[in-house]
Amino acid sequence: SKFADLGLADPLLRALEETGYESPTPIQAQAIPEVLKGRDLRAAAQTGTGKTAGFTLPILQLLSHRPALKSGPGRPRCLVLTPTRELAAQVHESVETYGKYLTLRSLVMFGGVNINPQIRALRGQVDIIVATPGRLLDHAGQKTVDLSGVEILVLDEADRMLDMGFIHDIRRIMKLLPARRQNLLFSATFSDEMRALADGILTNPASVEV
Ligand code: AMP
Repeated sequence: SKFADLGLADPLLRALEETGYESPTPIQAQAIPEVLKGRDLRAAAQTGTGKTAGFTLPILQLLSHRPALKSGPGRPRCLVLTPTRELAAQVHESVETYGKYLTLRSLVMFGGVNINPQIRALRGQVDIIVATPGRLLDHAGQKTVDLSGVEILVLDEADRMLDMGFIHDIRRIMKLLPARRQNLLFSATFSDEMRALADGILTNPASVEV
């Protein structure tokens, strides 16, 4: 199978070619068509499977192909939550790499660093925010970010977020999002707690497992 067969558009195919990827990994082959259809997704996938491109590529395509419902300074259309700053930085780098021929703007924000450069960046237009939960809530509290226009939510490595005690932060963030949105959840494991969280967030999800 080829990336083009999955329905990805030229600017993404060009970026993939330059990255040197020849064919989609199994998670990408399964996830990309479902996300492009606008469906919620529940994915059981470890790191190393190519899961990041599995959600980044279709999200970039969806956002670039439809007008923003609501957008403006500090008002993202897609929110990706990750458990750690390292993962946030990696996901953000993937967004930039795969999206190099699109005009979408992305920001990464995590704790443990000065908040002021993030506040300045949020005064501009932003389409995609990749963040750890605590720092995102700091911004929401200071109203430097407005989550009311989020069309797509991603929880990446959701089981690690639970392990690290982020459940309350996640629930607080959920309350700031519009009810109507597309939700993608990636987790290596599905404990009872994980399943309960997934069931509470996802609506009629496509289920993929690798
Ligand atoms: P991830 O599981 O998203 O952390 O990705 C693991 C690694 O696989 C990363 O270094 C990616 O750059 C790489 N990768 C992702 N998709 C592909 C692909 N289709 N072909 C080759 N390498 C890939």
